[in-house]
Amino acid sequence: MDNKEQLQALKGKAFDASGEGILITDPRGVILAVNKKFEEITGYSSVDVLGQTPRILASGRHDEAFYRDMWDLVMEQGLWSGLIWNRRRTGDEYLEQFSISAVYARDGTVEGYIGVMRDITDQKLQEDRIKYLASHDVLTGLLNRHALDTRLERAILHAKRRQARLALMFLDLDRFKQINDILGHDVGDELLKTVAQRLRECVREEDTIARQGGDEFILLLEDLEDNKGSIAHTAQRIIDSLAKDFEIMGCALSASASIGIALYPENGHTQAELVKHADLAMYHAKASGRGNFQFFNAELDAQVRQNVALESDLRAAIAAGGQQFVLHYQPKINLATGRVVSLEALIRWHHPQLGMVPPAEFITLAEDVHLITPLSRWLVGEVAAQITRWGDDALPVAINISPAQFRQANFVEELLEITGSHGVPPGMIELEITEGVFINDMENAIKTLQAARDTGFRVALDDFGTGYSSLRYLVSLPIDVLKIDRSFVSDQNQVCMAIVRFLVNLGQELGVEIVAEGVETLEQAHYLYKAGCTVGQGYLFSRPLPVADVLPFLRETGVTDRHDQDIEVMHLTARASS
Ligand code: C2E
Ligand code: CA
Ligand code: CA
Repeated sequence: MDNKEQLQALKGKAFDASGEGILITDPRGVILAVNKKFEEITGYSSVDVLGQTPRILASGRHDEAFYRDMWDLVMEQGLWSGLIWNRRRTGDEYLEQFSISAVYARDGTVEGYIGVMRDITDQKLQEDRIKYLASHDVLTGLLNRHALDTRLERAILHAKRRQARLALMFLDLDRFKQINDILGHDVGDELLKTVAQRLRECVREEDTIARQGGDEFILLLEDLEDNKGSIAHTAQRIIDSLAKDFEIMGCALSASASIGIALYPENGHTQAELVKHADLAMYHAKASGRGNFQFFNAELDAQVRQNVALESDLRAAIAAGGQQFVLHYQPKINLATGRVVSLEALIRWHHPQLGMVPPAEFITLAEDVHLITPLSRWLVGEVAAQITRWGDDALPVAINISPAQFRQANFVEELLEITGSHGVPPGMIELEITEGVFINDMENAIKTLQAARDTGFRVALDDFGTGYSSLRYLVSLPIDVLKIDRSFVSDQNQVCMAIVRFLVNLGQELGVEIVAEGVETLEQAHYLYKAGCTVGQGYLFSRPLPVADVLPFLRETGVTDRHDQDIEVMHLTARASS
């Protein structure tokens, strides 16, 4: 072999060894040669394609114009390169990075074309997957928070240009946390998936649904007819659809949801505003009994603003020494005997202009603006003084302790100092704390609880079941009493009843007393009693009483000792409520 032949042979080897598929055509596009890689990618052997044109690879995904433009460019500039969807012999489509160049003779005429192809289908799939993951929630397949932001931004621009309306719905499942904790994460996950599915069925294809995180979803409805009625209708349809039973891993569940709705442009012009206002409306829906929807309105907004004014009034009221505050006392009843076992002190604020401001409104405010410590110092002193005034008739009194207050250094010492100065033993005081005290610093919270109990105070975990701490922690908490939140008592659906039974069993196992809050009907009392709950509190027995009414109530219901264990709770509760 001479040099030239050797070189020729080498070129042939290189042709076949190339990692890219190569085809060579004559000037008319008829295939003259293909290499091994081409055969590998396309599934056609060279025998199959020789004499054919590359058109046999066409997938049908690109139109005539696409190929025309491609060839135009090759003619004009001698080269085209880009992405093409082709079809393998098997019929599968694949994506290739394709470049085609013209080969010219000395006189400038086209001698033929060389096409080079690289199969990038896997790479593309991977990229798509990455893009998908970056914008979707893996569990439900809905958009994620990030993607929603982008979508929302675009939707606002779009709506602004067309002077159209948008509705942003903020949806939060009621009691998802408990389902997750008690029935397990697998059930929780399945529930979220089912919810996502039902949401899809409730809105139009073009509407956006995103999972904001946890059990929060956001729906974005665009191009709305200009009436609130249809939005309300959609919201109600969602609530109804979620409320229908579904079976998950053998449990019949339904999901109650609360929805807040903010409209563009009425309720906000920016993403942040719309989300914030829909969120606020959602809280309003929760506060109005859950399982309903609320539109954001100016009143809600006014409430937020009012808080600012309220703050300075609160400051003044505390500084003035607490005359505007009053304590009411709500009895807790032994469900077996009907006797009052203790009282819960609940604060009331008689605002000189606004009248009665509910504690739910000013306690959080007091926490936010660091007024909770002086306020509760006043309160503990007041309770201690009252216990002394009641003398021999006094029963233990529970005081609500807010998380901010609980985290104060010397919290226990200060309590002891105040109660001690009135001569009240710690055993007469029960501290009602919420799961909020464990957020961020479980370890120190437990230390404080331990210190409080070592000193002789009793400790109750309040509103149990509404917080976000895991049930797992409960086992290790030094507490005496567990108060089941009233939402579980008032809703006598299957899930709530299962949760109550679960908590009662858990309480018994841990040697913790179970108190049910918000008992309003005889049926509830009866049910709770049978479930193993020892103590109940609620309007059925008594509303929180002004101090003057406390002793009369005690005389009427439970001062005389009753050891008759068989007394039916029904009789007692009926009498107490008459
Ligand atoms: P909480 O500690 O869960 O108190 C029970 C609330 O439920 C009280 O509302 C009580 O009046 C109400 N309630 C009692 N029985 C029933 C019933 O059968 N049905 C219904 N629907 N409600 C019932 P209130 O007095 O408005 O207090 C609300 C919350 O404000 C309290 O919830 C507590 O978290 C807080 N709070 C009240 N007083 C104080 C206080 O002195 N200090 C602190 N830090 N928080 C307080
Ligand atoms: Ca309480
Ligand atoms: Ca409570």
